[in-house]
Amino acid sequence: MAAVVLVGGGAGAWAHVDRRERERDEQAAVVRVDDAVGSWDGDVSLWGASDAAVGRAVTVTTRDAAGAALAAVAEQARSTLAATEGKVEDDAVRQALAAVLAEADAASAAPGASVATARRVAASLAAADATVAQAHTQWQQAQDAAAARAARPAAPSGGSASGSGPGGGKAPPSCETTYNGPPFYTSPATDGGDGSNGKLPPSALTAVSWDVDPRGTPYYLRNDATAALERLNVAFRARFGHDLDLDLTYRDYATQVAMREALGTVAAVPGTSSHGTGLAMDVPELPCEYGWGTPQRDWLVANGPSYGWVVPSWARQNGSNPEYWHFEYRG
Ligand SMILES: [Zn+2]
Repeated sequence: MAAVVLVGGGAGAWAHVDRRERERDEQAAVVRVDDAVGSWDGDVSLWGASDAAVGRAVTVTTRDAAGAALAAVAEQARSTLAATEGKVEDDAVRQALAAVLAEADAASAAPGASVATARRVAASLAAADATVAQAHTQWQQAQDAAAARAARPAAPSGGSASGSGPGGGKAPPSCETTYNGPPFYTSPATDGGDGSNGKLPPSALTAVSWDVDPRGTPYYLRNDATAALERLNVAFRARFGHDLDLDLTYRDYATQVAMREALGTVAAVPGTSSHGTGLAMDVPELPCEYGWGTPQRDWLVANGPSYGWVVPSWARQNGSNPEYWHFEYRG
């Protein structure tokens, strides 16, 4: 007899169902599945008797429906895992999610798995997924707070004219990221690439020396653009005491296709992005650090051209697609 293990505290689809009632239902279903059905080969109402016993409306569920629900939760879990790598305080929550996901994949593949098993694993998976999502939110908030602290200028000596109010100084600019789409990452060089947009081979690209992206991918730019950015970074560091922060540099064709699908027209048509030529960089989308009018962005706008790095007209504040984070190398 299959044991029914329930996950408490999950925010998944089961949260609205009374726990004891559900346990009764699932145990009844296990008996019915094991004794009466025994395979995944048909649409069978499994719930009528137990539901009648507890005086509720009849719920019809099927092996196909349970399998589809489990697949949907598994898909969500996979994307959560991909999006949170290195972006939680303690990776144990991600490892736990990966373990339940493996269990889900095994249950999906098992020919004799019961509806109750599918439902149980789906509930466990939803709960583990919610835990990782919550951990990621906490991590992001901590990152934002740290960035806000780092960006706050040292206490001015003598009252500058920058508006100290009755509260004892103006509030720091928001460090909430202005990006709310799905995560996209910088791309490695394209092995065997033909040199066209988004298909630049390793020989065309050089990684910047001071940073890699959160997944460990080097920040690649076309060789001459990287050389110029290295020089620019020396000057930037002399001014601000830290290296230039990067978010994304080279982007390959496949990633551009995915971005266009996810973000629509604010992403360039695949094959036309300046990121695909290795001649564009994005600094982080953090208004407190690089937003309009910040010292760091103003410095980049004023000094970048000396190194060949400029803001294209479309990305300016009054441009057709304002992006304070985007810069391009024009040599
Ligand atoms: Zn960009």
